[in-house]
Amino acid sequence: MSKIITEKSQKAFAEAQNVIPGGVNSPVRAFGGVGGTPIFIKSGSGCYLTDIDGNKYVDYVGSWGPLILGHAEPRVIKKINEAVANGTSYGAPTELEIKLAQLVKEAMPSVEKVRMVNSGTEATMSAIRVARGYTKRDAVVKFDGCYHGHVDSLLIQAGSGATTLGTPTSPGVPQDFVKHTISLPYNDIDAVNEVCSRRGKEIACIIVEAVAGNMGVVIPQKGYLEGLREITKKHGIILIFDEVMTGFRVAYGGVQSLYNIKPDLTTLGKIIGGGLPVGAYGGRKEIMDSISPVGAVYQAGTLSGNPVAMTAGIAMLEILKDAKIYKSLEEKSQRLAAGMEKVCKDAKIPAYHTRIGSMLCTFFTDQPVTDYSTAKKSDTKRYAKFFHGMLERGFYFAPSQFEAVFVSTAHGEKEIDATIEAFKDVAKTF
Ligand SMILES: *Cc1c(COP(=O)(O)O)cnc(C)c1O
Repeated sequence: MSKIITEKSQKAFAEAQNVIPGGVNSPVRAFGGVGGTPIFIKSGSGCYLTDIDGNKYVDYVGSWGPLILGHAEPRVIKKINEAVANGTSYGAPTELEIKLAQLVKEAMPSVEKVRMVNSGTEATMSAIRVARGYTKRDAVVKFDGCYHGHVDSLLIQAGSGATTLGTPTSPGVPQDFVKHTISLPYNDIDAVNEVCSRRGKEIACIIVEAVAGNMGVVIPQKGYLEGLREITKKHGIILIFDEVMTGFRVAYGGVQSLYNIKPDLTTLGKIIGGGLPVGAYGGRKEIMDSISPVGAVYQAGTLSGNPVAMTAGIAMLEILKDAKIYKSLEEKSQRLAAGMEKVCKDAKIPAYHTRIGSMLCTFFTDQPVTDYSTAKKSDTKRYAKFFHGMLERGFYFAPSQFEAVFVSTAHGEKEIDATIEAFKDVAKTF
C-alpha cells in the first residue's frame, strides 16, 4: 500500500486558513478529532468522492447524512437543473412548498403543519421558540451528547448529576442564555421523571435525538421513548423529536414510525433538502398555529421554502417513497456492520457496534455504549488510526469517533466487501 498523495489538499488547506477560520466552514471538517489535513473535494458521484489531487474514496459520510441516494443522483440533479432555469428565489409562495409539506405530513402523521427553514439548527431553534411561546414556560430539557445544531441555549452538555445547572460549552453563549436549559443523561428515564416531578411546570419542552447520532450512534433502550412521551404528556410539556438526521434515514417515517410514537413537534433537515440547505419543523396544528402570521411567535426567512431546495427535497422524497429502498439499505448496512464486527472479533479489538437502518457506528471500547459517558470511554486514538488507515486505502469515514457511518443506495456489495477487507488490513496496524 502506498500512501496517497494529497499535495493539492495540503496547499488548499494552508490557503483556506488565511481566509476562513480554521480553513473550514464547519468545525469537524478540519480533522481535529483525528489529526492530519482535510482532503478538499472536487466532485462526488454515487458512493464515491474525488479529491482535488485526483484520489477516489468510497464515502461513508454522505455530507453528514443528507445523501441517502449517493452523490449527484441523476433524477435529483435533473430536477434541480430544471428548477434553476426558472429562477433561484422569489420571496413569494410557490406550489413546491405545499408539495414538500404534504410529503412530510404523509410520512409523519404527527406533523399536521410544517414550516420550512434553511438548516437543522434553524429548525430546532424555531421549534424551541414555538414550544416556549405555546406553553408560556421557559425551561428546556435536553440530553448529554445530543446535538441539535449550534442554537445558543442548546450548546450545553451539563456537568455531572442529573440537575446540574447548565454551563455553556461555548464562549459567546451568555450564562443567562442557558440558565433555563437542563441537560440529563440519555437513556435515563428516572432522571427525567425526577426533574419533571420537581420542575414540570417550568418546562416548555423536552428535545431529544430519538436515536442519537451525534455521540456516535446510540440506540434508545426499551421503553425510553415511550417513557418520554408519557412523562411529557402528564406535565403538559412539548415533546420534540429532533429527526434532522434520522428523518427519512432510519425509515421513511423516521424514528417515530419505527417506535410508533407521536411527538408534539418534529425537527427535520438533511435528507429533506436533497443535498441543498433545508430544515423544517412541524407538528400539532394548534402548536404550529402559534407561529406568525397566525399567532404571535415570530419566525421568518428570506430564502425559506427556496424553490430549488424544495425541488431537490421533493425529488428525493418521491424516490424514497419506494419501500424497497429501505429494505435494500437495511441489507447493505447489515452486511457492512456484520463485516466490521467480525474483523474486530477476529483481531480481538474491543469494540461495541450499533446500527439502526443505514446509520451505524463502531465504538472502540469494551463496554456497551448507552449514553454520552459510555460513548466517551472509546479509544479515540485507535479511531484516528482506523480513520487514517481507511483513508489511505480509499475509504472516507467521518473524521471523528462520535459520528455515524452512513450507507447510501449507491453503495454496492463490491464497495462494502472492499471496505471490510481494507479494515482487516488496517486492524493489523492497531
Ligand atoms: C445535523 C443535525 C442538526 C443541525 O443541522 P444543521 O443543518 O447542521 O444546522 C440538528 N440536529 C441533529 C440531530 C443533527 O444531526
